[in-house]
Formats: sequence, C-alpha cells, structure tokens
Amino acid sequence: MTPSNFIKDFIVEDLGNKRYGSVHTRFPPEPNGYLHIGHAKSICINFSIARQFNGVCNLRFDDTNPAKEEVEYVDSIKEDVKWLGFDWGENEFYASDYYGLCYEFAEQLIVAGKAYICHLKGDSVGEYRGTLTSPGKASPWRDRPASESLEIFRKMRNGEIEEGEAFLRAKIDMASPNMNMRDPAIYRIKKESHHRTGNEWIIYPMYDYAHPIGDWIEGISHSICTLEFEDHRPLYEWVLNEIKALMNSGYVPSQKMPEALPRQIEFARLNLTYTVMSKRLLRELVENGHVLGWDDPRIPTISGLRRRGYTPSSLREFAERIGVAKTDSTVDIQLLYFCIREELNKDVQRTMVILDPLKIVITNWEEGKEDILETENNPGNLEQGTRQITFGREIYIERDDFMEEPPKKYFRLFPGSEVRLKGAYYITCKEVIKNEKGDITELRCVYDPESRGGETPDARKVRGTLHWVNCKNAVDVEVRLFENLFTLENPMAIPEGKSYMDYVDKNSMLVKQAKAEPLLASVKPYDRFQFVRHGYFCVDSKDSTAEKPVFNRIVGLKDSWGKMQAGDKG
Ligand code: ATP
Ligand code: MG
Repeated sequence: MTPSNFIKDFIVEDLGNKRYGSVHTRFPPEPNGYLHIGHAKSICINFSIARQFNGVCNLRFDDTNPAKEEVEYVDSIKEDVKWLGFDWGENEFYASDYYGLCYEFAEQLIVAGKAYICHLKGDSVGEYRGTLTSPGKASPWRDRPASESLEIFRKMRNGEIEEGEAFLRAKIDMASPNMNMRDPAIYRIKKESHHRTGNEWIIYPMYDYAHPIGDWIEGISHSICTLEFEDHRPLYEWVLNEIKALMNSGYVPSQKMPEALPRQIEFARLNLTYTVMSKRLLRELVENGHVLGWDDPRIPTISGLRRRGYTPSSLREFAERIGVAKTDSTVDIQLLYFCIREELNKDVQRTMVILDPLKIVITNWEEGKEDILETENNPGNLEQGTRQITFGREIYIERDDFMEEPPKKYFRLFPGSEVRLKGAYYITCKEVIKNEKGDITELRCVYDPESRGGETPDARKVRGTLHWVNCKNAVDVEVRLFENLFTLENPMAIPEGKSYMDYVDKNSMLVKQAKAEPLLASVKPYDRFQFVRHGYFCVDSKDSTAEKPVFNRIVGLKDSWGKMQAGDKG
C-alpha cells in the first residue's frame, strides 16, 4: 500500500467505527472541456483509494448545466480515464440520471417548508444576499405558503414560467456567516435542450444540490473534492440531512436510498508553474487558435500530454509524488519532467538525429567505401542490444557543434581541432567552405583510420564527442521542440491591466527539418526514442506520415529537478 495521507486516515477511521461497510468513491467531471493534469490527480486519488480498500470508483458526469456540455467532451473524458489506466466497469453515471429524484426531493422540501420559490432578479439577488461582513436580507417571498411555492414550482417544470422569472431556494439562514448557506438557489429555469435528457426538462438542479443527491443514491462513502468546496460542505450536508429527516418522519422516496450518507473530504487542487489549469482558460486558448487544439503538446490536457509522449505511468507517478495536501500550492513543472525522464531513461532506444545539419566531407575517406559500426541501443541497459550504423565519406553534424572562431575551452569542432564522432572515428577539421553570402555550407575534414570505434591505439585524448548521421542513408524527419506556452511562471498572477493571453509565447513551438538515422524511417505513433544529446521524443499521433515522420520533444535531457533535490540534501 502506498504511504498514508489524511484522506486515507479518514477512511480507515470511518471503516473502523463502522460508519461505512466499504469504500465507494467517484470521479465527477463536468463535460465542458477536456481533462487536464489536475483532473488526472483527482482520478488517481479516487480510483487508487477505491482499489486500495477493495472498493469501487464510479465515473459520474456532472451534466447539470445543459448549455455547456457536449458529447465530444464525454467521449474524450472516458478515453482519458481509460488511458490513465483506470476502469469504472459498469459504473458510468450522469447527474442527469437523477433529475427525477432531485425534482421529487425538491417538492418534498417545499412541502416541509425547507425551500421556497423566489422572484428576485439579477442584481437584487446579490443585494439581498449581503456581503461577507454584513448579513443578508430575507427575500419578500421567503415566508410565502408552501402550497404557493409548490404550485409555481410545478408550473416552472411545465414550462409555464419564463427563464429568470422564478427560482427555487433552500430556506436556510440569511444571516449565516457562510454565504453558501444564505438561502442558495437549488433549481432554475433553463429552456435549453440537454445532451442526454433532450427537452424533457426545462428546469435544472444546481450543482450544490444535485451533487450530494448523486453521491447518496450511488452509495458513495467518500466524496473527495477540491478545497474550493470546503465552504460548500455545510450545504452538502444540509441537503442530505434535510432529506434524511423527511424520511425519518415517514417520507418514502420512489427509489431506495442507501442507509449511510456520504462524507465530503477536500484536498488542495494541483497548480503547475508556467501553465493554466482550468477548462475554461484552456478552451479559450483552443478557440482563439493559440494552440493546435485540445491535444496540443504544450498544454496540460491529458490528451496534450499523451500526444507529447507522456506515458500513463509517468502521470500516475507524478500524482503519487505530489501527494495530497490541505493547502493550495503550485508544483514546479520540473517535477513532471523528472517523472517522465526517469521512466524513459530506463528503456528507451537511443538514436542520433541532427536538428540543424551541417555537412562534412571526409576527404581521406575513399569514395563509395562504407563501414558498418556496431553501437549500443541503450548504454544504461545492455540487454537492449546493439544496432549497426554505417559510416561514409559524407556525414552531417549539428551546425552549432562547429565554430570558426571558438572561445577558450571550446571542445567541439573548429578549424584544426580534432573531435570524436560518437562510436565511429576521430576527425580533424581542415577547411571551411562558404557560399557567396559568407554562410558556412560544408566542412572538409580528415579522419584517423586508427580510431575506429572511437578510440586510438595511442589512447590519444579528445575532449569533444559529437553525434552524427550518414548523409547517404539519412532520413528526413520533422522535429518539434517546445518551450513553456507562457512566459510567466504563474500566468494566473498577472499584472493589472494585462490578460494571461498577453503572456502566450508565440514561439513556443520550434519546428526543425532534421536528418536522422535510417532506424527512424519506420516508426508508428507514440514510439519513443532518446535523441542523443537532445532529449526524449515521441512520434506525433496526428501529423506523422510514412513519408515524413514527425517527432515531438517530450522533455530535454537536463534534469534540474533531480539536481535541486540532490542539492537540498546538502
Ligand atoms: P476546471 O475549472 O478546470 O473546469 P473543475 O473543478 O470545474 O475544473 P470538474 O470537471 O468539475 O472541473 O472537476 C472534476 C473533478 O476534478 C472535481 O472533483 C474537481 O475537484 C477535480 N479537479 C479539477 N481540477 C483539479 C485540479 N487542478 N487538481 C485536482 N483536482 C482537480
Ligand atoms: Mg466545474
């Protein structure tokens, strides 16, 4: 079992004192956008807790808002949860499954004097509600007879009342220090069709009212949610307790309700540096064309992370490492990079790719001659074997591995210097060829025939080792490098007068036309490689073709997170 945390402690306590016989959790997304890595954290918490306690986790779509929800989102959410490695089996539910029950309970609450129809409109609702420092005022309709409220509520349901003309409120306490308890709205008219119930309903329950009912009817024991719902917990409990009280005094619901009431537990939501974590803001980026779509590899949607090349296990590992907390904080995005790097480092095939090719002609290499060299697929894991790479008279190196006038301590290639070509030969630069504009177009080098495999009999030392690709069989590939989408560490903490959109980095995706080893000619979507000296890459699932493979950089090789941790230990 993974380490304990306060949620598990509560659960152990609740099982110990027999409040619940078993553990039943749920993940309740609103289908109004694609899931992001914050949701991934919530998914991991809910499903792994159920798994650890031999319980069940439901997938429940919180579709109480007909206007914003779409089938596309429902499908993407299911795909993402499955991909993360979790299975809800038969337990797929929708808040809209319970509209009938919510309505039935609402009528009961009205009859019992616990809810009433109010006709306040727009701003006056807010004025009557008061502020954090002043109590609210009773609505003029607060004490109307229950029979009158019931009659109007039924008219609302039948479409006889216009949107905004009336709404149902819980009758709780207008002087409560908790604003959520000042007679909150629980039902409103929305003459819109719903993606599941069609035109059956034109009144819809509010989330705060529908959620506890959904939890209860599904037999949820622990309703785990994020911290912003802490102030809503008294309302969550009010709804459950009032209905339970009605049942205790003789009301028999049309559906059998479980014996135990669910318990709400809050944890801190995940925030990540250099990115935004909200479906609404992500949708804005997508709709304004700032990114390639919901699966853009630069945004923290689960589909974006998948397309970039993250594995489900790396995201689960990330969720495990950040743990659960009671106070909000922002996690350094380097930790996410660390998790995927650690995983890929173990077993991903190494290969050489030149992002900015500069051609070298080896003048003392015989025309047409070819040498077949053997190289390790993963020096960290010799079980992954070796592969053959061919060496010839013309090769590519990285343009920035050469400098005509190098600074001191430059160990790569410059006129007169000798370097090692990885796994191949030593070469020395003899001549620089330029075009009319003065750009370097080619280098002429000589090689040392004694240095085959990257060592010489005299054990002569060279300081620089460059990666290379043979011109003769190089494959053209497209490589996409990503920077943070936002230039601000916390795009939510923006200076006054600015919008977070002002900090979108237009150059956050850099596209390179690269030269690669022949190995990369036949790849399929989601194949992953380490490009020597450049990082970890994944075949793009949308744009890659047999003619032109496309690779996304998942993450670079430099591990600043691991270093930071090592530094911390002193
Ligand atoms: P968003 O503002 O991004 O739409 P939300 O909370 O409105 O987030 P829901 O679809 O309502 O999104 O969320 C489903 C579940 O995921 C909820 O239980 C919610 O608390 C949880 N969740 C959402 N965002 C995060 C986050 N950043 N970290 C952890 N859990 C989250
Ligand atoms: Mg929401």
